Amino acid sequence: MKAIAKVRPEPGVEIIDAPEPTTGPGQVKVKLEAASVCGTDLHIYNWDAWAAGRIHPPRIIGHEFCGTIVEIGEGVSERKVGDFVASESHITCGHCLQCLHGQGHVCRNTKILGVDVDGGFAEYVVMPWLNARVTPPSISPLIAAFQDALGNAVHTATAGPIEGRNILITGMGPIGIFAVTVCKALGAKSVIATEISPYRSELALKTGADRVFGPQDGNLAEAILKMFPEGMDAVLEMSGHPTQLELATKVVRPGGRLSLLGVYANPIQSIDINNIIFNGIEVQGIVGRKLWQTWDEMQDLLLHDRLQLDAVVTHVMHYTDFKEAMELMKAGKAGKVVFRF
Ligand SMILES: [Zn+2]
Ligand SMILES: [Zn+2]
Repeated sequence: MKAIAKVRPEPGVEIIDAPEPTTGPGQVKVKLEAASVCGTDLHIYNWDAWAAGRIHPPRIIGHEFCGTIVEIGEGVSERKVGDFVASESHITCGHCLQCLHGQGHVCRNTKILGVDVDGGFAEYVVMPWLNARVTPPSISPLIAAFQDALGNAVHTATAGPIEGRNILITGMGPIGIFAVTVCKALGAKSVIATEISPYRSELALKTGADRVFGPQDGNLAEAILKMFPEGMDAVLEMSGHPTQLELATKVVRPGGRLSLLGVYANPIQSIDINNIIFNGIEVQGIVGRKLWQTWDEMQDLLLHDRLQLDAVVTHVMHYTDFKEAMELMKAGKAGKVVFRF
């Protein structure tokens, strides 16, 4: 079968001929229908310090995908051939303290599809049955493919109250934009955002953001507090940029929530922790998706057609055009790029 893989420890990925995988006990084999490109894939493509330290080539990449089950392994009773499924990329151990306490999203032994084990940018992928989430066939494969990423937005938004609240989302990468539509669907009073790229600001506005602040607005904290003198009920930080974290601490209201999903390249030293203490701000680290509450909440939103996702999917291409996809992403000229198989 054809697959997109990191073959050598250097920048780039290529199409390879790989043996078709066979199911082991507890696994299912999925024939791909669609997949989407994530920032993580770009890190692997660029071969940055994180990728070089984590990935052991050869490795088939890709962790956001959907397809149809064509084979089930020994002992699998909860999935059947023909099921339409989408990937949850975090393979958890099921026996560490976190897994036993219902906190599988922070399992100590997490293995990630397309990172630690072969992933789904391939004609076929084999994975644990639990990670193949049955998805209603009424959901388009072009959307079903990126539920792993959409789930990050749902997890972040639902980590506290949204209904009737004023929400700021910092950073309009695809997950930030997903968060805009999720917050709107959950009944937020207003959803504002920050973003430096005009291209992405436009996508956020098309997806329902009430306003997107950018460099043209000068001092962002002043501009936001002018619009919301009481401050924001919640800030969802999705940029991984220190300036946006600083902004978040300045505009979140006393007693408000600060949910952090963006990942920072370096330790942050510029935050006044006393400000967080004296204002009783709730700070949360958010990772992955809650297993499996986030999936149920997300599929409910999708099934009832409550999310605006059209503007985010800016490119649909055949998977063999992966180089074009990576370069578009690298240049920041894409929302979500979806591959067809
Ligand atoms: Zn991803
Ligand atoms: Zn575990």
